[in-house]
Amino acid sequence: MQELHIDDQVQGPIPPRVVNTISPNKLRTRVAEVCEEMGEPNWSKLIISDERNLVTLIANKPGTGNRPHWHRDFDEYWVVMEGTIQWELTGGTTIVAEKDDIVFVPRGSVHHIQNIGEGRSLRLAIALPPAEHVWTDCAECGFKA
Ligand SMILES: [Zn+2]
Repeated sequence: MQELHIDDQVQGPIPPRVVNTISPNKLRTRVAEVCEEMGEPNWSKLIISDERNLVTLIANKPGTGNRPHWHRDFDEYWVVMEGTIQWELTGGTTIVAEKDDIVFVPRGSVHHIQNIGEGRSLRLAIALPPAEHVWTDCAECGFKA
């Protein structure tokens, strides 16, 4: 079991020490600007990254998605920001989510995520570093990881 170790601890309160003009860890990220910069999907952009946070903005064109996988040591969740997205989970549970929905998947469950809508999908993925992925086929639809 890997222990969380934080070398960089501060004596606050202090003003923000890091003001990035590029991702990750900008004080404010404008999603529209990220989408403009990244262009046509598919793409993913790291938005926040530190010892405890791993937040990624992910865009998919219709009919595309992730490679099915599961995580041993953390639960993962997503905020759907655009489009219609389907999660196929171990055991036959399927979740369809749309803009402003939040989807939570506990550790251990394979998640096969696909944009099932007509247009671009956009989701903000919140994971925990180092976010080890265990790749596996989707038992529900047969997709090969
Ligand atoms: Zn995952």
